[in-house]
Amino acid sequence: MATEVEKIVLAGTDDHDLTKLAEYEAVGGYRALTKARAMTPQDVTEELITSELRGRGGAFFPTGRKWSFVPSKEQIPKPHYLVVNADESEPGSFKDNEILSRVPHRFIEGYLITAHAIDCDKVFVYIRGEYSGPYEILVSALEELKDRPELRGEVTIVVHRGAGAYICGEETALLDSLEGKRGNPRLKPPFPAVQGLYDGPTLINNVETLSNAPHIIASGAEWFRSLGTEQSPGTKVVSVSGDVQRPGNYEIELGIETKRLINGLAGGPLPGRKIKGIFPGGSSSPVLLPEECLDVPYSFEAMQEAGSMLGSGSIIVFDETTSVVELALRTARFYHHESCGKCTPCREGTNWTVKMLERMIRGEATPIDLETVASVQTNIIGNCLCVLGDSMAIPIGSMVKKFRDEFTEAIQQGVPERLAA
Ligand code: SF4
Repeated sequence: MATEVEKIVLAGTDDHDLTKLAEYEAVGGYRALTKARAMTPQDVTEELITSELRGRGGAFFPTGRKWSFVPSKEQIPKPHYLVVNADESEPGSFKDNEILSRVPHRFIEGYLITAHAIDCDKVFVYIRGEYSGPYEILVSALEELKDRPELRGEVTIVVHRGAGAYICGEETALLDSLEGKRGNPRLKPPFPAVQGLYDGPTLINNVETLSNAPHIIASGAEWFRSLGTEQSPGTKVVSVSGDVQRPGNYEIELGIETKRLINGLAGGPLPGRKIKGIFPGGSSSPVLLPEECLDVPYSFEAMQEAGSMLGSGSIIVFDETTSVVELALRTARFYHHESCGKCTPCREGTNWTVKMLERMIRGEATPIDLETVASVQTNIIGNCLCVLGDSMAIPIGSMVKKFRDEFTEAIQQGVPERLAA
């Protein structure tokens, strides 16, 4: 039976200040790195494949398999790169912030193990520009390693601060941004594993994903797979926000009932209020009604079956005081602002969606506008170069479907005294 108390990524943080190297080593830190370096790169990758750890950045792709896609230096004799995506920008997601702030050495140990597994000696950490606190903590953790060459090895580490564009969280836009260009998604193929940063073979992983590696190497893949569910092994640091009593990050074993997270750990709805809707995987996931979500196990497969997704593991809760039409407009404005404009369905679709929702809120829309909003979303999904277009279309399409009466009411009388501007 899954519990919410098992911790991997944030293990030890309740009793120790793990931002300090000495304390991290006192709880066994960096022993997994020593163990990994005594193994062949292939054996380290094999252990990750067997663990069935899936990427925690949103796509949930099997991590070990992703590592195995990076060709060897014999196959492609160019520098190989590891790029860590710490550009956490999905509305509702703030778990990488906490990981970098509380366990920077576990994260560093994770990417040093990964660098060994893909035989690379250059690591780039692309950190969200607004994360000045986590950035300072990470830099001081790296300073501590300067006096410990046996830990740092031959690896060169560059910490690069982003400039605030959501699209730079998309892995190929992130590579362009690192190279000093405007962050635009690239056409694929070629895939970054073969031709990524500076045209070299490049592995891109998320902060939380890599922070699992030390425990997997230290305790073994079988131990890791004993946690969570068969298809979603391990734990997840979940950001819970919105209309709950205790918003925050909670590390849980995957597969616990969602209500234990929302009503238990996060304290449930505010006094006297009722939950109206839940985005189980950040602002880009399809919205679920409480009766569709609360009893569902919080896992990749169960959320998909329920009609939504786990995404990066960020739950946004809203109660009956929230206007869904306003919520849809806020969501659309965000993605419209962040669209790079490269492809037509996303550039024009996000623009038209904002305009039509603004008309509804002002009470100036006609019933046909609701059909148009719904069909614009359908025409965006699957027709864009990267996932940003879908990230707006999927949640808005689901809001129109699940709360149609509210949109119809807005068409008839507008949404008074709110976001009319
Ligand atoms: Fe740019 Fe949007 Fe196309 Fe992505 S989907 S490439 S953000 S225009």
